[in-house]
Amino acid sequence: MKIAIISNSGAKSQAASTALRQQLTAAGFDLGTKQPDVVITVGGDGTLLSAFHRYADSLATVRFIGVHTGHLGFYTDWRDYEIGDLVTALQHDAGQSVSYPLLDVRAEFADHTSAHYLALNEATLRRYGSTMRCDVDIRDNFFENFRGDGLCVSTPTGSTAYSKSNGGAVIHPRLDALQVTEIASINNRVFRTLAAPMLLAPDEWVTLKPEPREDYLMTVDQFTLDPQPIVSLTLKVAQERVHFAQYRHMHFWDRVEDAFIGAKQ
Ligand code: NAP
Repeated sequence: MKIAIISNSGAKSQAASTALRQQLTAAGFDLGTKQPDVVITVGGDGTLLSAFHRYADSLATVRFIGVHTGHLGFYTDWRDYEIGDLVTALQHDAGQSVSYPLLDVRAEFADHTSAHYLALNEATLRRYGSTMRCDVDIRDNFFENFRGDGLCVSTPTGSTAYSKSNGGAVIHPRLDALQVTEIASINNRVFRTLAAPMLLAPDEWVTLKPEPREDYLMTVDQFTLDPQPIVSLTLKVAQERVHFAQYRHMHFWDRVEDAFIGAKQ
């Protein structure tokens, strides 16, 4: 098994990744960042997001493992003081994995070019300073004319990130769904939007058609793309999925409780 280790630059993460590297080498694992079977990230959910994009072309063959140097995360099952247990689990690896849905994003630009992205958390379309005006189609049928700061389309695992800050529901990652949330929509006697989070089924798609201006910002996870006039963004559940090596099970709702409520002693 070939293992790549991706760490953020924090002192705690660097120390944990050095210890992990030493223990994996001593256990006889092949370490290297090219064509790994397993990618271990050391940091937080943000570090896992970066590694996901780095290996987005190899999703069919790569399994991810997240080690968190702070609290437990949504993509991170291990804590930095459990590195010995993780190495033992890897030695007994039988290919166990769990997979989660991704977001497929297709952008058509005013200069007749197009682009394709995969998101692990979400994609957003936003405008700062002035109102975003955007037609929203569902399954190619007109749904609403949105006015406000922006729209966010998230995966189930992304539902605990930016989508939640927009008032979106927390979605169990076993559901193959997409969630559309509004960012500060304008609702009055003149302009009207649904004004509620919306869940799309796996065979549905949403198309955002903003007015073709330079100052609309599109984001895919942690990336903000260079601004250019967008004709349409079409978002649906991707055919690809992200795979995580799963050596022990943690209930999703325990993770949610730990992250947002923390009431357990
Ligand atoms: P970042 O600093 O890497 O992440 C911002 C926070 O979001 C961190 O605390 C991170 O956790 C957490 N996070 C990331 N993915 C998550 C998930 N699936 N569920 C729960 N929490 C999650 O920020 P960035 O590089 O700009 O963007 C990365 C992601 O952060 C975006 O995809 C977006 O979802 C999220 N974000 C949220 C807000 C908001 O809620 N207002 C604003 C900006 C960005 P760790 O500390 O474990 O890394």
